[in-house]
Amino acid sequence: MLEIEYWWLAALPAFFALGWAAARIDIRQVIREARNLPKAYFRALNLLVDDDAERATDVLVELARAERGNTELQMALAGLFRRKGETDRAIRIHQSLLAEGGLDGETKQKVTLELALDFLAAGLLDRAEGELRRLLGTPHEARALPPLLNLYAAEREWHKAIETARRLEEITGHPRPQEIAQYWCEVAQYAFNHSDDAGAGAAVAAALAANYKCTRANVIGGQLALRQGDAAGALACWQRVELQNADDLPLVAGLIADTALAQGEAARAANLLRGYWQQTPTVDVLDAALRVVLAVEGEPAARALLAEAVAQRPSILAVSRQLEHGGPPEVSTLRQLLGQHTRRLAQYRCTACGFRARAHYWHCPACSAWETYPARRVEELNIYD
Ligand SMILES: [Zn+2]
Repeated sequence: MLEIEYWWLAALPAFFALGWAAARIDIRQVIREARNLPKAYFRALNLLVDDDAERATDVLVELARAERGNTELQMALAGLFRRKGETDRAIRIHQSLLAEGGLDGETKQKVTLELALDFLAAGLLDRAEGELRRLLGTPHEARALPPLLNLYAAEREWHKAIETARRLEEITGHPRPQEIAQYWCEVAQYAFNHSDDAGAGAAVAAALAANYKCTRANVIGGQLALRQGDAAGALACWQRVELQNADDLPLVAGLIADTALAQGEAARAANLLRGYWQQTPTVDVLDAALRVVLAVEGEPAARALLAEAVAQRPSILAVSRQLEHGGPPEVSTLRQLLGQHTRRLAQYRCTACGFRARAHYWHCPACSAWETYPARRVEELNIYD
């Protein structure tokens, strides 16, 4: 046992010696290579470290002229130009690198991607698309697809965006159901707006196939059914939102109320919307429920609904509805709500940065500006954001 430990101890210095030699060799190698680099390289590097991109670029331009065959250097220079917003110069360098030829496949793809990013930065979307598409099927495809996807979304080319997102899913293994369903919804909305009902219906189905939780697809699907005279179908579409995401019920509650009222189905809708308010107590759901209850059950029932709503979820919006319908709100509720809101309204606000504070400051603690606090409370400034 002891012998083995001693053996290791004896070997330790030898390992140290080996490590020292290895380090020395590396350092020598580095020094030798550094000596071969032109001095201008270091000058540019220093300027970059000092954040003087302007002069660094001048130095690199001079250097690049002397070393035309140095692709890495040319690319670094082009990258600098793009960062400075001189996209035309970046484009010229990348294009001449590609035109000169002699690049290996890997480097050619790198330069192509850089050129595409130049075109994107310059707002030349068609040309960016062309370069990015050249990279499809190459090892650089995974880097080309995200900018290509952004480009199609910006150009509202939804079918191409869908195709690109699918390809990105394949390559990265990350599913993108929400995005793809939204692209289909854009297709559906466009078709709907242009009276292409068949196209809209197909796109809605595709959106739901991509993401069964896509509430937007059911909102559009309901509008489509309603336009085709199928009110029952429309109501069924909108009611599916409850199962998909109850948070989005405010987006369909009003549509359900209007359609049910027009179809003489208000009695059923009154109960449905009361249930929605229990799940998602927002003022939009409350308004929808109120409209239907008022029509079917009359003013006393509407007042009772409001009193219950204010008691369960007090809000200024709900109380203002209560006042509109002649119901006197409880004074204790009013005092509580006003207290919450006046605390915000009684603050001071910096005119330079918008920072709010309970005390008045001569020197803003957020943005350090002087004399930016008017001696008026937020409410008196008429700023309610
Ligand atoms: Zn400030």
